[in-house]
Amino acid sequence: MLRAQADTMMAELQTINARISVLQGGNAPAPTVVADTGVRRKTSNAMRGGRMTAIVDKEECVSCGICVGVCPEEAITVEDTAVINPQKCTGCGLCVDECPNESISLVKLEEVVL
Ligand code: SF4
Ligand code: SF4
Repeated sequence: MLRAQADTMMAELQTINARISVLQGGNAPAPTVVADTGVRRKTSNAMRGGRMTAIVDKEECVSCGICVGVCPEEAITVEDTAVINPQKCTGCGLCVDECPNESISLVKLEEVVL
């Protein structure tokens, strides 16, 4: 019981630290370089500017799991729907392009209620 609470508090602390880092404009990780698959992406980190993260429209997601397989950061898990960990997501946009339902979009990290 206490262990679970401690783990939850630690996760929240990490989330807060990540958010502070973003707000300070410092330590945001660089976008991950991924292999060219020949598929032209509709999104570009360079064009977006700032730290982005992917979010899932839970009403549209059909839990197919395709996004899990394309994420280079292992940031996505599928529970009832896809869930994206904003602390792992680099905003590369691969999942956005691959989701057959267009259920994923990119937003500025600071817009996500963590
Ligand atoms: S690819 Fe799209 S529909 Fe499939 S699990 Fe991911 S978000 Fe949901
Ligand atoms: S944008 Fe999608 S594929 Fe890229 S790191 Fe984030 S969750 Fe993974």
